[in-house]
Amino acid sequence: MSSPLPFVDLKAQYARLRPSIDARIRKVLDHGQYLMGPEIVELEASLAAFGGARHCIAVASGTEALRFPLMAEEIGPGDAVFLPGFTFPATAEVVVSVGATPIFVDVHESSYNIDPAALEAELAQVKRDGRLRSRAIIAVDLFGLPADYAALEAIARRDNLLVIADAAQSFGATVGNRAVGTLAPITATSFFPAKPLGAYGDGGAILTDDERLTAIIRSIRNHGAGEDRYDIVRLGTNGRLDTLQAAVLLSKLEVFADELKARERWAAAYDRHFADKVGRPPRREDAKSAWAQYCIRVPNREPLRERLSRQGIPTAIYYPKPLHQQPAYERFGRGPGSLPVSERICRDIMALPMHRSEEHTSELQSR
Ligand SMILES: *Cc1c(COP(=O)(O)O)cnc(C)c1O
Repeated sequence: MSSPLPFVDLKAQYARLRPSIDARIRKVLDHGQYLMGPEIVELEASLAAFGGARHCIAVASGTEALRFPLMAEEIGPGDAVFLPGFTFPATAEVVVSVGATPIFVDVHESSYNIDPAALEAELAQVKRDGRLRSRAIIAVDLFGLPADYAALEAIARRDNLLVIADAAQSFGATVGNRAVGTLAPITATSFFPAKPLGAYGDGGAILTDDERLTAIIRSIRNHGAGEDRYDIVRLGTNGRLDTLQAAVLLSKLEVFADELKARERWAAAYDRHFADKVGRPPRREDAKSAWAQYCIRVPNREPLRERLSRQGIPTAIYYPKPLHQQPAYERFGRGPGSLPVSERICRDIMALPMHRSEEHTSELQSR
């Protein structure tokens, strides 16, 4: 291969969308409403329609999209929030940042998502300990594949827990004929540039059918304002998405269905080349992933990574360590060995570039 591939090719995508993105950006510069401009209203309506939810609130990042529902439900000190140990740090940091306690749950080998049976065991343990009130589950749709919300919903209903979908990697995925946005009562997504639907900076959104919650989150993203701008009725923050990012996202949303189809094609191409060779990513018969990442399992991955790198093929490790083994979160976990599946996956997982895969699978095949 002649020139090295980028891991995510945002420049090529911009070259295709340039006329539309440039025109929308110019419009924002002309009207000058850099915050809460008309593009925000338009984007929220479009995202709600795409995700099948009644309401959408655009916010400053995927992290804030996870944090605001916890704030709105007044989850805090003395409360336990359950989440997978194998995820991006934001899923846990929002829990700690509101003063609640994260309880790390192991994931399932067949999905890399939170394991409902392991969740049951952790819920029982918290109940036995009697120190914390179990309040919420944050399920993560890792690499774009939705978690098992049917199983989680049954547990949540029994124990009166809130279910939040961390759909930072899965916006655009479906289960049966239901879109991500309808699988949980609250869905949080991210527009970090490298996500399947990425902005040109930070951004995120919350999707829900809950009108009361929507009103509270709109207030939180604007410093806790009430009816009047300087009527401050709750603790809030500066959590708005800016209008320029909404303009970029509106352009990208127009071609997002095609982007998802292309990702499915690239994933299928990898699958064909890897048949019987490496640990292919989990799939669900009833679901379509958003394919944020295509990750394979390779015992002793470093020699292969080095060879690919020499051939100009970048790889990435999502994630090298489960959260209960990260220095910042160790104190919430039960130490090495407590989440065996998460720990095993972290040792041999490896992500491949999600574009033009047809061109470099042949090099991977010769490994
Ligand atoms: C990217 C990501 C987030 C955070 O999104 P930001 O927009 O970067 O704040 C949260 N959870 C998961 C699983 C992610 O991949």
